[in-house]
Amino acid sequence: MSRVEKFDFHVPSLEEVVSVLQNGLKENFADVQVSVVDCPDLTQEPFRFPVKGICGKPRIADVGGVPYLLPLVQKDKVYDLNTVAKEIQLPGAFFLGAGAVSSRVVGGNAEFIPVVQAEKEKKAAINGSYIAKINPEDDGCLLQKYSSLYNDCEFGLLANLYASEGLPGEVIEVRANRRIGEQNFISCIRKALEKHYGDKPVGMGGTFIIQKGKAKLHIMPSEFSACPLKTDEELNNWLKFFEMKAPLICQPVIVSQDPGFDLRVEHTHCFSHHGEGGHYHMDTTPETVEYLGYFVPAEFLFRIDRPKETHMVGRD
Ligand SMILES: [Zn+2]
Repeated sequence: MSRVEKFDFHVPSLEEVVSVLQNGLKENFADVQVSVVDCPDLTQEPFRFPVKGICGKPRIADVGGVPYLLPLVQKDKVYDLNTVAKEIQLPGAFFLGAGAVSSRVVGGNAEFIPVVQAEKEKKAAINGSYIAKINPEDDGCLLQKYSSLYNDCEFGLLANLYASEGLPGEVIEVRANRRIGEQNFISCIRKALEKHYGDKPVGMGGTFIIQKGKAKLHIMPSEFSACPLKTDEELNNWLKFFEMKAPLICQPVIVSQDPGFDLRVEHTHCFSHHGEGGHYHMDTTPETVEYLGYFVPAEFLFRIDRPKETHMVGRD
């Protein structure tokens, strides 16, 4: 077991978050509609998740960190989602989020797009995750179903995870169309929460769809950098950036403000059913973009295996 730290989030009512987001998002999007709804059945299109919802004992885990990737990789940093489920006191947790693959399993580096129901008692884990890697054939995006290649629940280096019991229930629905500001969908939500709640951190996770338009995403190269990556510029020259098209199904993890655990305060990975996926930066079609998201405020933060030596490179 890794070192685990726990923090209690401020947990506002869904109705209060609705009004905070309705106000905050209208500065960045022309059409904004935020409301409380019953979570749609996430086993259906386009999600195809192994569970119906994102409700029940909601919590966030920030595992490892960018300091295990940069300036040079620490390949021994490997984690298992079944273990993480126990560490966050929720065996059988349903995980959504953003991380890196276990390079010892995959044989190289890649983006990890976790969609996993962890094992519980005699019930085996269901791994519906995707990985996005650089295609050695054409340097394009290669999106793969994890379970078509591997049988484990490992990941490596870092992950930002939203965990719940995977149950139906009430969620916050956010519809935001036509971007008029400079912020991406998730930064805008996080900053609205930070502005309102200040030093009472609020955590949220869930899923959203980029329904129309295109977005800028990155994929890490399969080979770890042999020379140290010491700045955001060196990192961005190493990463591969793509413009990918809707519909993209995305998995955000948000913490409004870091209460002192060296967190990545926002991190979103996306997959699709047309072979594209990766790490979300921004839509590139502000006039036509349409976002539809479902979110739940988390009760607890778990910080697992926080790096002792840290830096702020690569937190975007
Ligand atoms: Zn990422």
